Amino acid sequence: MTAGVGTVIDAVYVVAVLAFILGLKAMSSPETARRGIAYAGAAMLAAVVATFFSPGLSNFALIALGVIVGGGIGWYWARVVKMTAMPQMVAVFNGMGGGAAAAIAGVVLLSSLSNPADAGLSVAGAVIGSISIAGSVVAFLKLQGWMRQRPIVYPARQPINLTVLGVGVAFGVYAVVRVDTLFLLPFFVLLLVYGVLLTLPIGGADMPVVISLFNALTGIAVALDGFALVNGPLGDAGYAMVIAGVLVGAAGSLLTILMARAMNRSIGNVVFGAFGAVEETGVTMQGSMKPIEPDDAAVLMAYANQVIIAPGYGMAVAQAQQKVKELADLLEAKGVAVKFAIHPVAGRMPGHMNVLLAEAGISYDKLFDRDEINPEFATTDVVLVIGANDVVNPAARRVGSPLQGMPILDVDQAKNVLVIKRGQGKGFAGIENDLFYKENCRMLYGDAQQVVGKLVQALKRS
Ligand code: NDP
Repeated sequence: MTAGVGTVIDAVYVVAVLAFILGLKAMSSPETARRGIAYAGAAMLAAVVATFFSPGLSNFALIALGVIVGGGIGWYWARVVKMTAMPQMVAVFNGMGGGAAAAIAGVVLLSSLSNPADAGLSVAGAVIGSISIAGSVVAFLKLQGWMRQRPIVYPARQPINLTVLGVGVAFGVYAVVRVDTLFLLPFFVLLLVYGVLLTLPIGGADMPVVISLFNALTGIAVALDGFALVNGPLGDAGYAMVIAGVLVGAAGSLLTILMARAMNRSIGNVVFGAFGAVEETGVTMQGSMKPIEPDDAAVLMAYANQVIIAPGYGMAVAQAQQKVKELADLLEAKGVAVKFAIHPVAGRMPGHMNVLLAEAGISYDKLFDRDEINPEFATTDVVLVIGANDVVNPAARRVGSPLQGMPILDVDQAKNVLVIKRGQGKGFAGIENDLFYKENCRMLYGDAQQVVGKLVQALKRS
């Protein structure tokens, strides 16, 4: 390769890294998020194309085949995926990153086992990448409903898990010390098993935090691989991988911390606590669930000073967001102030509600996060809960409840609470909701899109 080509490749990597950073920054707001995705995607494409011109790269046909098959599957899946199935898709795509990092580490180990520095970095990358792919596959199966969502626990699980991890890592270290590739096989197998064992006891409701954690781990594994590659024939690509991996690792770690905080739990408790394994017993709901007709509910809202709408997973399932926008517009036309209360883990992915409401054209200044809106519930006439359950469950305030400590939207403090849901279904955490039995609460039974449609019709008539 001439020096000129090398300089151009380096320049492309530098520009790609800058675009990654700008893209990440843009993703921090729903208004600029699409632009951020476009920057990051273009940067990744440029970095991949530049790598094709690197010296020492061979097997072009095989790599191109991988890019076409992988890219094709990713493109098709992302186009057809339903909004509600987004978390499991993210889990799988994350896992693929971890798997790729583990595979790269494997190749480096096979070719440079005698170089202790590269081999050491690759062992670390392989450990993290293998745990990430195996754990992500379990997360996918749980979220897809192909595996029991509740924590799967077994006796002496912590010592067993620790032993599997310890023996697995020992095989990796031994392979490096003895410079013997034979030990790499049990090393990889045990780490994959550990990834599965680590994730089995984690309940479905904790999956958002776990997926985010695996995302961070994948980034770290990629960065470690990058360090190991820097000394090899694709050295400069290694630098690009280090920076991209560190960005993913840092962003994923921050998201993990924020999500854990939103549930008022430590990351250790999420990962090792088998949250939700023990069902709450001895709690009986006081009172009954009282229905209300859409016409009466519409009148209640039309005469309110302020209505706060608290959407949840059911709004996403019903794809009711357009109708919700119509409802909000009609109420505002009648002089009612309308606000949206957004819980950070409402729905099935971070920012789920923001994305849906933005798609329906509801302006961002009407969306309020939990800390901003909670003080307002006590003075609000009507709260309309649309397909939300766990994020409005006052059981979170009860000592001994599996939800204990999770910060919720304090909708039960409002003068009137209207809840749209289809029937007696529990929330994701599988826990009864005290809210529905309270004196100030009325149930609007049915699919969210249809019920909101009936409220719209009733408001138009009134
Ligand atoms: P929940 O899953 O707690 O409750 C959703 C409610 O919507 C159910 O009670 C269900 O009751 C109702 N519902 C379902 N379909 C419809 C429909 N078509 N029309 C009307 N209602 C419907 O949702 P929340 O948003 O309150 O809480 C999110 C939960 O998901 C949390 O536990 C969170 O930890 C977890 N989670 C969050 C992720 C994230 O990143 N945001 C990712 C993965 C999990 P019924 O059956 O009676 O209709």
